[in-house]
Amino acid sequence: MTKIHNLGFPRIGAKRELKFALESYWNGESSRNELETFGKQLRRRHWQAQSGLDWVPVGDFAFYDQVLDMSFTLGNLPERVRDFHGDALDNYFRVARGRSAQSAPEAAACCSGVAAGEMTKWFDTNYHYIVPEFTAATEFKLDASRLLEQLAEAKAQGIAAKPVIIGPVTYLWLGKAKDDSYKLALLPKLLPVYAELLEALANAGVEWVQIDEPILVTELDAVWQNAFHTAYQHLSDCQVKLLLATYFGQLAENLGLAANLPVAGLHVDAINGRDDVEALIAQWPADKVLSLGVINGRNIWKTDLNAVLDSLEPIAQQLGERLWLAPSCSLLHVPVDLDNEQKLDAEIKSWLAFAKQKLGELRVLATALNQGRDAVKAELDANRAAIEARRNSARVNNPAVKAALADITPQLARRKSSYAERALKQAALLKLPKFPTTTIGSFPQTSEIRLARSQFKSGKLDEASYKDAMRGEISRCVREQEALGLDVFVHGEAERNDMVEYFGEQLDGYAFSQAGWVQSYGSRCVKPPILFGDISRPRPMTVEWIGYAQSLTDKPMKGMLTGPVTILNWSFVRDDQPRSVTCKQLALAIRAEVLDLEKAGIGVIQIDEAALREGLPLRQSQWQAYLDWAVESFRITTGGVADETQIHTHMCYSEFNDIIAAIADMDADAITIETSRSDMELLDAFEHFNYPNGIGPGVYDIHSPNIPSEQHIVALMCKAAERIPAEQLWVNPDCGLKTRQWHEVIPALTQMVAAAKTLRTTLGRSAT
Ligand code: GLN
Ligand code: ZN
Repeated sequence: MTKIHNLGFPRIGAKRELKFALESYWNGESSRNELETFGKQLRRRHWQAQSGLDWVPVGDFAFYDQVLDMSFTLGNLPERVRDFHGDALDNYFRVARGRSAQSAPEAAACCSGVAAGEMTKWFDTNYHYIVPEFTAATEFKLDASRLLEQLAEAKAQGIAAKPVIIGPVTYLWLGKAKDDSYKLALLPKLLPVYAELLEALANAGVEWVQIDEPILVTELDAVWQNAFHTAYQHLSDCQVKLLLATYFGQLAENLGLAANLPVAGLHVDAINGRDDVEALIAQWPADKVLSLGVINGRNIWKTDLNAVLDSLEPIAQQLGERLWLAPSCSLLHVPVDLDNEQKLDAEIKSWLAFAKQKLGELRVLATALNQGRDAVKAELDANRAAIEARRNSARVNNPAVKAALADITPQLARRKSSYAERALKQAALLKLPKFPTTTIGSFPQTSEIRLARSQFKSGKLDEASYKDAMRGEISRCVREQEALGLDVFVHGEAERNDMVEYFGEQLDGYAFSQAGWVQSYGSRCVKPPILFGDISRPRPMTVEWIGYAQSLTDKPMKGMLTGPVTILNWSFVRDDQPRSVTCKQLALAIRAEVLDLEKAGIGVIQIDEAALREGLPLRQSQWQAYLDWAVESFRITTGGVADETQIHTHMCYSEFNDIIAAIADMDADAITIETSRSDMELLDAFEHFNYPNGIGPGVYDIHSPNIPSEQHIVALMCKAAERIPAEQLWVNPDCGLKTRQWHEVIPALTQMVAAAKTLRTTLGRSAT
């Protein structure tokens, strides 16, 4: 009998219930008791949704983040909150977000307004975890209470519970040493606490524990590989059975390591690590469970169940009892329930599966394997029909788009002249001063803007009045920028809800869910648009707004677009063709928009690639292939413009060193980047690399309400000028200003413009 299980269920709730419960508690509108009770209800609901599985995850629920939960379980609290003796949950929120609920007693002066834990992306997903903090002196101490309580809840509900924890090696890998110590040196102190935890779980009657070690799909050096031997040898005599879980990629060179650790079972991602499966089965030990993640936990498409069965049937024959099936990874990364979608086009809906539907697929697979395909004939036939309908749909396949893609030539992705020649022509036309000032695109999204948009969407405001309101906002932005004395203007992006959704809504090949929420971090969720078909642009998307903005001023108005790689990386993307192909389709659509903007007299156009870096594969050996098509896609968007048209791009990160050659290869005339928070850390990248084109290292942190001083900005720019020739430098904030208020933006930009003027009189002269 093949068994089925799940690695994790989305905790946020089908309608983001957890988000609202958390925010209500944080705002002091509900009590801790109410929040705890709500958490219990949510867990119950989610366990019920997983009924019929042989093993159901427990401990995957977290009020904020599963890694932070693990830190609390291991007693690894940052020093700054360790003296807090109030409620543990309040302390947990204090680490997560710098403060607890409004009503929570700030028990000790030490803990009011502490720094929030650092957040970073969970592997290559859009989920962010709280980074564990270590020092050489870090000690661990077990607190199994959360897990044991949830286990007791599950038991009382008759759930076949399989606790989920993060494994010790991955836990250390995820964290950061705050001193200069070597974090892996903590392993000997950490392992006894894991052993104690497993013992506590065994005492609670647990049979299987899922222990997640996703770093096994990354490139590990010998020391980290060794840490796996040490760790699992240490835990090998525990009284529970360990299912070592890996996901998000291939084990590749770590396959032998993972397969031979002394654990009772191994889960692998049979979607992204498809190529591992055969090798694993060939050497699979007779006494071990192999769990195959055959349902994609990272996207929202139905699984081709008949095809999966074709490959699984022989494996099930061979492994018998030892074969388990699951989604490829935790379902945390997909929305909860497709049945809640009322407005989604019926045809497209029939191609999709959210978390609940994916578990349904798993049940069908198990039945087919255990009782024969006939036992689920109706389900399998319906699945085949849906898969075929999608494959052949005219909405997915647009011959004109495929033809345009086939016609892409290398020339399409090349500007006509070199940067040096373009720069001369642009300078003659734009007549910008040295250290030109600009912003990244958005100005504050005020409550008036949001109200107008929601009224327009709900039909309370007609289109003409909505457009009037947006034009009013644009002209306000223009007036403010004139008063500030900026050099290159933006229209402010008032009409955009989101930099990807805005374009997705206007492109053919996209669909939108109503409640397809996925947790990004804490109570924050995103609703990625669904890219289901060949992409085309039926009509210009931004020309009317940008043209209007340009009509209000003689200063250059920067047209503002989102780039193809960012649109791709922030969408649920079709799985029936390579991402590179989809990206190039997006590139052709954005290219058409760029050319229309140029035709409308827009001389500066920015194409944001905020998410280019986060698309990097987990394995460095695969980076170049990704960068090749990502950079090529960007260049397709810009390759058609005249030398005089100045292309900008923007990126939201400063870790540049390892990809700076690819960034330079994008050949934008100017790039603006985030770097102020890291004190121009980015400049390290320029030590061995002469970045050839214009560059604006962000001079102040837009995430903070603090107003930067002119001196500070001048100092940062002087630092930049030591590495980058002054004539290449731009002065700008480090990201868009949409989350700020006007009363913060005006004084900050005033300082920035003053700093640019100072730079022109000091550095500017010597640079010419
Ligand atoms: N142009 C966008 C803005 O200013 C860029 C946002 C981003 O980089 N995430 O809002
Ligand atoms: Zn940004």
